[in-house]
Amino acid sequence: MAIRPLLLVALVALLLLPTFPAAAAESRISGYRSIFQPCYDRSGALRLAIRRYERGGTPHVLLVNPRTFETAVAPLASLKAFQAPVGQAELRATPFDLALTRHTSPPCRLQNHGAVRADLPVDGVFLTVDMCPSKRPFEKEFFAAVAGLSRQSGRPTPVALAMTGNWLENHRDELAWLVQQIREGRLAVTWVNHSDSHPYDPKAPLTRNFLLSPGIDLEREVLATEQLLLESGLTPSPFFRFPGLVADAKALEQLRQLSLIPLGSDAWLAKGEEPRNGSFILVHGNGNEPAGIARALPLLRDRGLRLLPLTAAFAPATAAAAGAGGE
Ligand SMILES: [Zn+2]
Repeated sequence: MAIRPLLLVALVALLLLPTFPAAAAESRISGYRSIFQPCYDRSGALRLAIRRYERGGTPHVLLVNPRTFETAVAPLASLKAFQAPVGQAELRATPFDLALTRHTSPPCRLQNHGAVRADLPVDGVFLTVDMCPSKRPFEKEFFAAVAGLSRQSGRPTPVALAMTGNWLENHRDELAWLVQQIREGRLAVTWVNHSDSHPYDPKAPLTRNFLLSPGIDLEREVLATEQLLLESGLTPSPFFRFPGLVADAKALEQLRQLSLIPLGSDAWLAKGEEPRNGSFILVHGNGNEPAGIARALPLLRDRGLRLLPLTAAFAPATAAAAGAGGE
């Protein structure tokens, strides 16, 4: 008599067995690579495909909307037209094409090259939070305060998280908490790439430090973090923050080839810089820079800074939408 339930369990287990590898294969990404291919989506709208990969055996692409800077993933088969030279002329002079060229062009500043504030006049500021590798717990009180602003505004609070692959892999529970805030409508996150390993040597000069350290493969650093984000169900944006904000002309050229816009900051709070309209506020959410968080909390709570989505710093369409949706 006792055998029958056991047999049933064994049978069910056998039946379920083949589905586990299939589910794993579906979430796993292979062949992740950079491309540059203007194309048209199902509705005939212009998109720029910047990555291609296989997921569950199906070819996918990561798409940028060159007018709004929003990204999305799609199966390659869902696109209407994909072959060169489709859309090349139309892509030129789009807001994305212009911003990418402007912010990766020489002369290069060793530190803080790229967009440090909004390209457009806006009424509000942009909160960017760096998640460099850290052994400390994340700034939960700060993130809870940012998420809590959604109660007054009635919309998810926009925040740009500059994510490293290293932090993402070592803080799974904290990442899950952040994702929960997104699911529950409290945070609207733009996932900015902050490299995978975020190399840093306190003794090395800036010209041979961070991603300029000997032996660093910038493309690998970029693609590994994007792949981790996608495998975590998160969509990378077309923005990149250099570790230490340090870059050289070669790194900027590589970033342009990867279709990513570098983000600096004109309001690094821990350095005493004051945010004004259009500022990219920089704080660290990884527990490594409490001075910045100590300044950010009263700014958010008492001064009632109006936070905008990062795309509104570049795209007239989203800037107008962010304005219309204000209080
Ligand atoms: Zn960093």
